Amino acid sequence: MSNDFDFCIAGGGVIGLALAYRLSQQGSVLLLERHARFGSETSSRNSEVIHAGLYYQPGSLKEQLCLAGKPALYAFCEQHDVPHRRIGKLIIAPAADTPKLDELWHKGERLGIPLERLNQAQLQEREPLVRGAAALWSPSTGIIDSHTYMQRLAQLAQINEALLLCHSSVRRAEPTDRGWQVTIDSSDGEVNIRCGALINAAGLQAQNLARQLQLAEDNIPALYPCRGHYFSYQAKAPFRHLIYPLPEANMAGLGIHATLDLGGQVRFGPDTQYLAAGQLDDYRVDAALQSRFAEAIRAYFPQLDPAALQPDYAGIRPKLHAADQPAADFCVLHRQQPAPVMHLFGIESPGLTASLALAARVADVFSTTL
Ligand SMILES: Cc1cc2nc3c(=O)[nH]c(=O)nc-3n(C[C@H](O)[C@H](O)[C@H](O)COP(=O)(O)OP(=O)(O)OC[C@H]3O[C@@H](n4cnc5c(N)ncnc54)[C@H](O)[C@@H]3O)c2cc1C
Repeated sequence: MSNDFDFCIAGGGVIGLALAYRLSQQGSVLLLERHARFGSETSSRNSEVIHAGLYYQPGSLKEQLCLAGKPALYAFCEQHDVPHRRIGKLIIAPAADTPKLDELWHKGERLGIPLERLNQAQLQEREPLVRGAAALWSPSTGIIDSHTYMQRLAQLAQINEALLLCHSSVRRAEPTDRGWQVTIDSSDGEVNIRCGALINAAGLQAQNLARQLQLAEDNIPALYPCRGHYFSYQAKAPFRHLIYPLPEANMAGLGIHATLDLGGQVRFGPDTQYLAAGQLDDYRVDAALQSRFAEAIRAYFPQLDPAALQPDYAGIRPKLHAADQPAADFCVLHRQQPAPVMHLFGIESPGLTASLALAARVADVFSTTL
C-alpha cells in the first residue's frame, strides 16, 4: 500500500512548523499538533531574541545552527514581512577586567560575530541608566514577533500543500515496509495514516514520544525540565537595547536579563528553576520571586522600581543536563531502521534563532536517504 504522506511531523511548535515549511519543498507533509493552536508551548513562552551565537560550546549544533539560523531568520523576516528589529544587545560586566567578558570577546572574533568593547563612559552614553564597568555591544542581536513568524511558516507550508492539523496527538507508530503507520488521536477519534519518514518535534514530550516510536531506551537522553519566569516592567522603558548580565556558569540560563518587545515594553527574565518530571505543564509564576528578581536586576539597573515588576509568564526549557552538569547540546538522532525517523531532543535556546537552519539540516538528511 502506498504512503499518504512523505513526511509526518509530530509537534507544531516553531521547529515543527519550520520543518513543515522546509520539507514541503521536497515532498508531501502532514504536521500534527495536539493542542488547539500551533506554538502554544515553549515556542510562545520565550524571550523572542534572535541570538548572535556567542554562548555555545565550540563546534556544537547549538553554535553551528545559531550562526547559520540568524541570517536565515533575518532574511525570512524581511522577505515575508515578519515584524523584527535588530536592536542590539549589551552584555554588562561588573568589573573592567572580567575574564568572562574577554572570553566572549575572543569567541566573537573567532566566529566572525560583530562585537564592540565599551568602557564605562561609552556604556553610559549608550544606556545612561545601566551600571557596569565595561560591556560588549552585539549589534546583530535582535527581536522577533515569534507568533507572526510561526503563522508565516504555516502559511508557506500550506501553499506547498502541507496539511497542518491541530487537536491531533500522535499516539504511536508501527514500522511498515515503506515507512510508518501512525496512529493519531483526533477530534474524529483514532485515525491511522501512512508516511515515509517520521519527525519527532514534540519539544518537552519528545522523550515520551520516542518511547512510543520504538527508540531503544538507552538512546533516549534524559529530560531535565527547567522553568524560566518572566516579570513585566510596568513603567516607562528604561533601556533602548537588550541588557544582559554575564551568563551563568554552566549556561543553565543567560542571567536575568532585560528584553524589549516590538511595542517597546520591557520584561525581565528568565531565571532558572529545575522541575520534577511531572511538572511539564506547570507555568506558574510565583509572585514571591519578585525580590530575587529585583536583587539580580539592581546589579546592572540600580534605579529599578521594584513595585513595577509584575509576574508575567513562564517557559520550560527541555534541557538535557542537570543543574550541576556541563551544558548539553541539541540532540538530533536519525535512524533508518526499523523505518526512517528523526528525533529532536533538547531544543532549548537558541532553538527559535536556529529553527530554519535546523529544518534545513533535517531536510538535507532526508533528501539523501529517502
Ligand atoms: C524561557 C525560554 C526562553 C527562550 N528564549 C529564546 C530566545 O530568546 N531565542 C531563541 O532563539 N530561543 C529561545 N528559547 C528556545 C525556543 O523557545 C525553543 O527552542 C523553541 O520554541 C522550541 O520549539 P519546539 O517546536 O521544539 O517546541 P515546542 O514549542 O514545545 O513545540 C512542541 C509541540 O509539540 C506538541 N506535541 C507534543 N507531543 C505531541 C504529540 N504526541 N502529538 C502531537 N503534538 C505533540 C506540543 O503540544 C508542542 O506544541 C527559549 C526557551 C525558553 C523556555
